Amino acid sequence: MEKFTYVRHSFAVGMIVQKFGGSSVADAEGMKRVAQRIVATKRAGHDVVVVVSAMGDTTDELIELANQVSPMPSGRELDMLLTAGERISMALLAMAISNLGHEARSFTGSQAGIITDSAHGRARVIDVSPGRIQEALDQGAIAIVAGFQGVSQDTKDITTLGRGGSDTTAVALAAALDADVCEIYTDVDGVFSADPRIVPAARQLKSVTYEEMLELAASGAKVLHLRCVEYARRFDLPIHVRSSFSNKEGTWVVKDYPEGADMEQAILAGVAHDRSEAKITIVGVPDRPGVAAAIFRSLADAAINLDMIVQNVSAAATGRTDISFTLPKTEGQTGVATLKKIQGEVGFESLIYDDQIGKLSLVGAGMRSHPGISATLFGAMSDAGINIEMITTSEIRISILCRESDLDRAVQAAHTAFNLDSDQVEAVVYGGSGR
Ligand code: ASP
Ligand code: MG
Repeated sequence: MEKFTYVRHSFAVGMIVQKFGGSSVADAEGMKRVAQRIVATKRAGHDVVVVVSAMGDTTDELIELANQVSPMPSGRELDMLLTAGERISMALLAMAISNLGHEARSFTGSQAGIITDSAHGRARVIDVSPGRIQEALDQGAIAIVAGFQGVSQDTKDITTLGRGGSDTTAVALAAALDADVCEIYTDVDGVFSADPRIVPAARQLKSVTYEEMLELAASGAKVLHLRCVEYARRFDLPIHVRSSFSNKEGTWVVKDYPEGADMEQAILAGVAHDRSEAKITIVGVPDRPGVAAAIFRSLADAAINLDMIVQNVSAAATGRTDISFTLPKTEGQTGVATLKKIQGEVGFESLIYDDQIGKLSLVGAGMRSHPGISATLFGAMSDAGINIEMITTSEIRISILCRESDLDRAVQAAHTAFNLDSDQVEAVVYGGSGR
C-alpha cells in the first residue's frame, strides 16, 4: 500500500476539512487507506475535520430497498434511512483511525450542528453551529462527520441535502470553523476540461474560479455539488479537489486565477455535458399577452425546474407560435400532465415530448473579453455535422442542445476547436464513479 505523507500545496494551512467520497471508502481497504491519509495530515500538525460519504453504492442500494417496501416512501423516513449510510462510514473510519493510534470521534450531521430547513431530500443548510466539533479538536481529537445530512430547525427531523450533498456538508463546516481549505477527495485527480471518459485528451485544471465552477456544476459536471460551490464562493473558502488514490496536487477552486496562470486556461475552463434533461415543445400557442405567463405559472406551481426556454417568432398567417423548454427527465411526465390540464384554457394545439436530447456547455470567464467564441463553437458543430436545436448563454457560458446520440461527438469537437486537448492523456479514473 502506498504510504501517504501530507504534502502542503501552494499555501500553508492550519485547519483542514477533508471530505472523502463514497468511492474512496468503498470497502475496508479504502477505509484504512483514507485513515492513513488523515493521520498523516494530523501528524503534520494540522487540526483535521473529516466529512465522509456512504460507502460505495450504499445510498443507491438503500433507495432501492425503500422502493421495494413502498412505491412512495415518505420523505421523513427516506431521509432517516439514507443518513444511516453515512453513519456506517463515520464509525468505521473513526475505528480505523483509532487503530493507527489517534483519537477520532464521529458525529452525525445533527450532532455536528448542521441545521437545515425541513425540505426532505433537498434540505438547505441554514445554520452551522459546530460546538462539539470544536470541542473535539480542542481536545486533540480528529472529528469525523457524517456527510449529506442535518436536522430541521422547525420539525427537528433528520434531513438530507440532496444527492452528492456531502460536499456541501464539508464546505459548510469549513466555513463555520474558519478552516483554511476544504479538500474534496474523489476518484479522479481533479477538475478536468471535459469528462475524460468522453475526451481522453481532457486536461486537468490547475485552478478554476468559483463562478466558472458554478456554471460547470450547473451544466452537468458532477465532480462537485452545486450548492457546495455556492457556499464556498459566499465565504471565499478555497476548495482543493484531488484524488484519494494518489498524492498529486489536484484542482484549486478559488476566487481569482493566481498571478501568472496559464492564459489559455484562463479564457475557457472547459466543456460540460448533461444527459439528464428532456425537451417539451408546446405547438401552436396563441401569440397574445399573458399566455407565456399562464404556461410558466402552471409549471412553477408544480415545482418544475426549467432550464432553457425558446419561443419562436409567430407565423403572421396564423398568429401562433411554438414554445420549447427543457426540464429534468425525472420531471418530464409531471410537466406534460401539468400542461395538458391548461390546454383548453390556453388554447395551444399540441405537445411534443422528447427525451433524446443532450446539452453541451462551454464555460470560461474569458468569454467576456474574447469575441468570436460562439462563432467558433457553432463552426465546430457544423464541421462535425451536428444540428443545434437550442442555444442559451450567460456572461461566461454558451449552452447548446443537440441529439443525445451526437453529444459525445459534440463535446469532442468543441474541446478540439478551442485547443483544450492535452498532448498526453492526463486523466486517471481510479474508482470509476467520479465521486
Ligand atoms: N451518499 C450520498 C449520495 O450518494 C451523499 C454523497 O455521496 O455526497 O448522494
Ligand atoms: Mg455517494
